[in-house]
Amino acid sequence: MMGFSRPRAIVRSMDPAKATQPASVEQLRAPDGANAFAFGALFALSAVFLFISYCGARALIGGFEVGAGAITAAVFSTALASIFLWWLVPFADFAEIFWIHIPADRRAGRGQCPHCAYPHEGRGTCTECGRATSPLPAWVLGARPVKRLAWILLAAMAVGCAAGEAWCRLDEARFVNESLAERVHPFTRERAFPTGFARMTALPDGSYHSEAWPEDRRDRAWQPSDPARRERGLGWGKSEDAIEGTAKKTAGDAPR
Ligand SMILES: [Zn+2]
Repeated sequence: MMGFSRPRAIVRSMDPAKATQPASVEQLRAPDGANAFAFGALFALSAVFLFISYCGARALIGGFEVGAGAITAAVFSTALASIFLWWLVPFADFAEIFWIHIPADRRAGRGQCPHCAYPHEGRGTCTECGRATSPLPAWVLGARPVKRLAWILLAAMAVGCAAGEAWCRLDEARFVNESLAERVHPFTRERAFPTGFARMTALPDGSYHSEAWPEDRRDRAWQPSDPARRERGLGWGKSEDAIEGTAKKTAGDAPR
């Protein structure tokens, strides 16, 4: 076999097209760091998605400075949400697809050896590298990319849930400080991004609550029965309801 293989310099002199592109004669191999880049990008995307999912689950479940039960429920919900990331599974083989399968197919289409790009001229064995000139098997969705994505998602789950819980705790701690600084209770505000649909409330009895889409959000006609809440403009949104609410409040204040 060694007798058939020609020195590289002779090959280049015989094929002027390849002499200008010495890189194409090299073996098919993904560059260093290609997999690390693909895995890193998948991890970052998944971690952000799962962080938002965790925060959303926490806000939907409700409760303030919750215990292990609600955290477990939020983690379980986040694991369910990770189903929406499985379409990314071919990207776990990004390096192999882009640097091995696609170039090999291109070489096979040009009548070149898929391994070294030497023209095989119909021979079954490449005279340059000694390997079979038949096209590489096509990329298939096998166990390898699935396993890779499973590990990436597991790591992204851990980071996303931990960051989500930390973010929710931080927001709740900030809300406690804000409510203590405010002397008028009940005190309320929306949760921080990305769960502005949920609202935290500090009641006069010193208890804290959090619920998604509270009463004042679901029912546009809702008005607070408590005069103190009415005074603070609670229950009216920032849109046309707010203007209406201010008008009502002014009308109510007039006779006094
Ligand atoms: Zn070859």
